[in-house]
Amino acid sequence: MAKIFGSPNRYIQGPDVLKTDSHYLELGQHCMLVTDEVVWEICGRELAQRLANKLKVTPFFIKNQSSDEEIKRLVNHNLEGKMDFIIALGGGKAIDVGKSVSHHLALPIAIVPTAASTDASTSAISVIYSSEGLFERYSYYHKSPDIVLVDTAIIIQAPSFLLVSGIADALATYVEVRTVLEEGKLNLLGGQPTITAVAIAEKCHEILFEYGVAAVADNQERRLTPAFEAIVEANILLSGLGFESGGLAAAHAIQNGLSVLDGKVQTLSHGQKVAFGTLVQLVLEKRPDQEIADFVSLYKQLGLPTTLAGLFIDGRMETLKKIAKQAVVQGETSHFLAGEVTAERIIEGMLAADNIGR
Ligand SMILES: [Zn+2]
Repeated sequence: MAKIFGSPNRYIQGPDVLKTDSHYLELGQHCMLVTDEVVWEICGRELAQRLANKLKVTPFFIKNQSSDEEIKRLVNHNLEGKMDFIIALGGGKAIDVGKSVSHHLALPIAIVPTAASTDASTSAISVIYSSEGLFERYSYYHKSPDIVLVDTAIIIQAPSFLLVSGIADALATYVEVRTVLEEGKLNLLGGQPTITAVAIAEKCHEILFEYGVAAVADNQERRLTPAFEAIVEANILLSGLGFESGGLAAAHAIQNGLSVLDGKVQTLSHGQKVAFGTLVQLVLEKRPDQEIADFVSLYKQLGLPTTLAGLFIDGRMETLKKIAKQAVVQGETSHFLAGEVTAERIIEGMLAADNIGR
């Protein structure tokens, strides 16, 4: 089995790069700008005006989750093929929709995240949701994004809970990659992790524990510091390359399980749900007490959920069964854990993590 590593063609990060380095985004003559109405007001209109000096820009506002209907709606806008590249500007939804539309139309894409809340920007994967907003599947593409441009002067304006969500998503990376490596499993590109991917995941972990808390404080005070820059890079680039080329395991499978519930849990972000999934994975793997305690301590400092109540879910067996059943469906990465992974084992892990996290 071959080792496979994937990455975007270029990654550009720094304050005001959307102004100073927007030439990186010029991938054709006519741009489909995938964004939403809020982001349009924050920075979309200004970017469109700047690009309009050299090329044509047609904005499209996404309305819902990255569902098949939403993607089809955008693909249909270009049936005549006039638009020859895509810019996805915004959060996870715009990025996931943009990557999917780029794949369906075989057009180059530049990704411009406006928050460091997930590690979706660099990967050749979209998460596809049902029209009701529930997790449906991952879509895999043969090509990584062409450009990822991260303007930290914009990211610093985003609410700090988004940065915290990105830290939580990124904290899962090393934990999951380590399992893939130990168990000889495959990454999301269908190959074994390279030494490079493992090194990236390790560095990601190190940066998050070193600068995470400081970066969130900087975000709250709108201070563009080296700690903030480091965490933005960890959340977007290190975590993005790490999870795709390193692999996922139980943490993300449990987040997918949480996504089938109704109710207040769905007001939580991807990262907040992944955070609890990571804790459950660490417990299931019987990692050293100190390592688990370090995670719980960092979560508490960052205000991340460490208990079922923190996820707004009751501890009723019926609820736990629903989560666990989804987390162990055939093909889920929870099966990468050593030993047999059953719904019962996931439930035991959730209850044990809940206990430790109190
Ligand atoms: Zn994730």
